Amino acid sequence: MKSNKKAIIIGAGVSGLAASIRLAHLGYSVKVLEQMPTYGGKMGEWVKGGYRFDTGPSLFTMPQYVMELLAIDGQKYVPFHYEKLDIVCNYFWQDGTRLQAHSDIQKLAEAFEAQLGEPKENILRALEKSEEKFKITNHVFLEKSLHRWSTYLNLGTLKSMLRIGKVDIFKKMHKQNAAFFKNPKTIQFFDRYATYNGSNPYQAPATLNVIPHYEFGFGAYAPKNGIRSIANALYQKAILLGVDFRFETKVSNVEKQSSKYIVNDLENADILICNMDVAAAALGPLKTLISSKKTKYEPSSSALIFYWGIKQSFPQLDTHNIFFTDNYEKEFNSIFSEKVIDDDPTVYINITSKTNKNDAPEGCENWFVMVNAPYADGQNWIELISEARNKIIVKLSNLLNCNLEELIEVENKLTPLLIEERTSSHKGALYGSSSNKLMSAFFRQANFSREHRGLYFCGGSVHPGGGIPLCLLSAKIMTEKIANDN
Ligand code: FAD
Repeated sequence: MKSNKKAIIIGAGVSGLAASIRLAHLGYSVKVLEQMPTYGGKMGEWVKGGYRFDTGPSLFTMPQYVMELLAIDGQKYVPFHYEKLDIVCNYFWQDGTRLQAHSDIQKLAEAFEAQLGEPKENILRALEKSEEKFKITNHVFLEKSLHRWSTYLNLGTLKSMLRIGKVDIFKKMHKQNAAFFKNPKTIQFFDRYATYNGSNPYQAPATLNVIPHYEFGFGAYAPKNGIRSIANALYQKAILLGVDFRFETKVSNVEKQSSKYIVNDLENADILICNMDVAAAALGPLKTLISSKKTKYEPSSSALIFYWGIKQSFPQLDTHNIFFTDNYEKEFNSIFSEKVIDDDPTVYINITSKTNKNDAPEGCENWFVMVNAPYADGQNWIELISEARNKIIVKLSNLLNCNLEELIEVENKLTPLLIEERTSSHKGALYGSSSNKLMSAFFRQANFSREHRGLYFCGGSVHPGGGIPLCLLSAKIMTEKIANDN
């Protein structure tokens, strides 16, 4: 299909990039307006002193969605390489227990039995149930619009609906895990998957127990040149398809005049796509087009990240590493109820130099050290950040038997306020709204406006949600609707 219509996309995040590729491929004339000097949004990069850091996402699953975009026209070649990780993540508990989460499910189950005394059948059965949830929900909740009748009048959807009881919408994630596993550490391991979309396992529906299937059914991957290379490849593809990018161009005002959208009083478009956070858009440039009700949701959690260039290498660490808190319930309570960083936070370390030697000088490692944090809500961040930094240093120094402070040779940080400032994410949330409530998925902004023809939405704050794979699916669902409407 060819169209001579003009589309403007607000934001060059990973979803905006995907949307630009899809629309250019459909024949639209596409212009992307991005407030920052570069593309990628949260998928940023920081380089200093021989170290390279991905500043946002670190875990890459479902690479096929990226490959699908790069091969969309079957001809304009853009290289993008990645490898599957054998060890998905290393887990450390403060009593000295360790677990290597193998991508091979049999090895994973054996490790649980050997290290935690969890019967391996429990792990295999839990992953089977996770896969079953995926098969029921994927085509309905993730690959289609939840807001179009056509989704529900489809045989596949009807089949899924008949099995909907199996996705455990009415159970709580933690309760289900607590009833299923023997060892509290196994429960903690499976509860952690709620954080993959910024939710609280003690509140979120057990439907989120689908998430382990993404990691163990499909695998975790490391892009050869870091996560940033996803944004680089998508940008190159968009350029090859003729997309026009304007950086340092903040959209501050949009008006609708008959069937056209007038952006910043200058540009006009037949189709307007909002990749920026929908709540920020409703409070800002799209305030006359989006209801202020769209800002009334519980945001997902945010994060505090330290980027540390470490002048030593740690053979006991891998690409992904988790150092659990002793009291997970208290940590989630701190984040979601008290809205502070817990005083014994679970610490995640991502080290891309484990697979990509160019990311750190020889004998050194690039540490991305993250703790979950509440969304920004007027806290005293200077105090919270300084306390958290001290606690992280003490915790890791003890567990890794080193003086971490002395090993840090370059440092930077990202905070909820900086996430909000740099990407306009409402309250600095990582994934738009949380999935803590029963029907959260249905209350997310649809991929199109019911009130304004020609206005569409994609990205982590709208259906089907945050995280790289869902953001890419969001652009796909949205483009299918655009093709259908025009
Ligand atoms: P964004 O990346 O937020 O892009 C929106 C773009 O819109 C930005 O470039 C912004 O500058 C621009 N914009 C906003 N307002 C305007 C305006 N008025 N005018 C012009 N431009 C504007 N996901 C995973 O899959 N795995 C992970 O491990 C993971 N970890 C994460 C860790 C961190 C620290 C963060 C921050 C996120 C993480 N995520 C992870 C989530 C993932 O990064 C996001 O879901 C995804 O990148 C969001 O993409 P997006 O296109 O929706 O939005």
